[in-house]
Amino acid sequence: MHPVEFADVQKVDELVEKGVTEPETLAPILFEQYLANGGYTIYQQCIAGQHDVNNVLDMMDDSGLRGLGGAGFPVGRKWRIVRDQPAPRLMAVNIDEGEPGTFKDKYYLDRDPHCFLEGMLIAAWAVGIDEIYIYLRDEYAAIRVMLEQELAKLRAHPPVQNLPTIYLRRGAGAYICGEESAMIESIEGKRGMPRLRPPFVAQVGLFGRPTLEHNMESLYWVRDILEKGPQCFTDHGRHGRKGLRSFSVSGRVNKPGVHLAPAGITMRELIDEYCGGMLEGHEFYGYFPGGASGGILPASLGDIPLDFDTLNEYGCFIGSAAVIVFSDKDRARDLAVNAMHFFEDESCGQCTPCRVGTAKAVTLMKQAKWDEPLLEELSQVMVDASICGLGQAAPNPLRCVVKYFPEELK
Ligand code: SF4
Repeated sequence: MHPVEFADVQKVDELVEKGVTEPETLAPILFEQYLANGGYTIYQQCIAGQHDVNNVLDMMDDSGLRGLGGAGFPVGRKWRIVRDQPAPRLMAVNIDEGEPGTFKDKYYLDRDPHCFLEGMLIAAWAVGIDEIYIYLRDEYAAIRVMLEQELAKLRAHPPVQNLPTIYLRRGAGAYICGEESAMIESIEGKRGMPRLRPPFVAQVGLFGRPTLEHNMESLYWVRDILEKGPQCFTDHGRHGRKGLRSFSVSGRVNKPGVHLAPAGITMRELIDEYCGGMLEGHEFYGYFPGGASGGILPASLGDIPLDFDTLNEYGCFIGSAAVIVFSDKDRARDLAVNAMHFFEDESCGQCTPCRVGTAKAVTLMKQAKWDEPLLEELSQVMVDASICGLGQAAPNPLRCVVKYFPEELK
């Protein structure tokens, strides 16, 4: 059903070369074709009682599927937490995809939108959801038109009776609305600003109701896990890690794009095996492992597993697996200034350490000689006292430059 079957995961590049997943020519699998291919059968089986909810929750646990928007919270555990809350429960699907360098959600929506929608409906069934709100990045205008058409077909020809109500909401270009509680504020029609927690959105979310919040890609894999078993995920992985990750790769490589690769793969392996190596004339110098907020690592750390846990030890995180590769033609300090500038622009302004801290950091980082003690003090205040992840993660690139690229600061 997928453009790339799990069995072929290791051979993505060969398939691309054969034209199987050629991005420019691949048309989305629309409702009629999806149904003809057996689509929505798993969901129908769930509704018909052919799948036990507890078994489905166990399969999610066994698959090791984690939230793929950045936080990495285990999907099965999240479903249980929300399921245990009082009804009515709501769902919010995050397709804001605003982290610089991330485009994997778009990749899958462009190809197999109903696989995501079926996974979303299966999750709604398992958790007992009454209404679903899909929050779509406004820059994805063509996807919005396509999703509106496909949702209309789904409502006109529902695969089951009593389909949950599904709303499609447009974002408005604010990076902060990718943060789950800011997204919920935005869906409610308010200015998108993160909420203080607790209470968590699983308990008090959309319109004050318990809310299952998911990144689109997390739901995309649900149907396959039920159809093929949790091992379709756990059979993959490297260096002791299990699962698959969709890496959005950009920068100085021959084949940028979305590469579905084993969890735990290293940066060098990803470049060599999936990205066709570095561009001619460019030597691997460093990389962002998780978009602008995930920090910066040098090429000397290109052999560590790219996974949720390992990167934390190095002051970085994988987030939504937006990997940006840079070369000896670039300077890490310039990239860090650029990232901080982005955070300054995108800060919602609600709390002082982030609003003032990002602006102050940009000023300090633009000076020829960095005042490292002052920048570190500022970073610590931002980490300790910002309300949400934007302000807490904003100092990651600058701290990494001080730690891993000291020669650039002399
Ligand atoms: Fe807003 Fe920044 Fe505070 Fe987050 S950390 S709530 S983005 S001001």
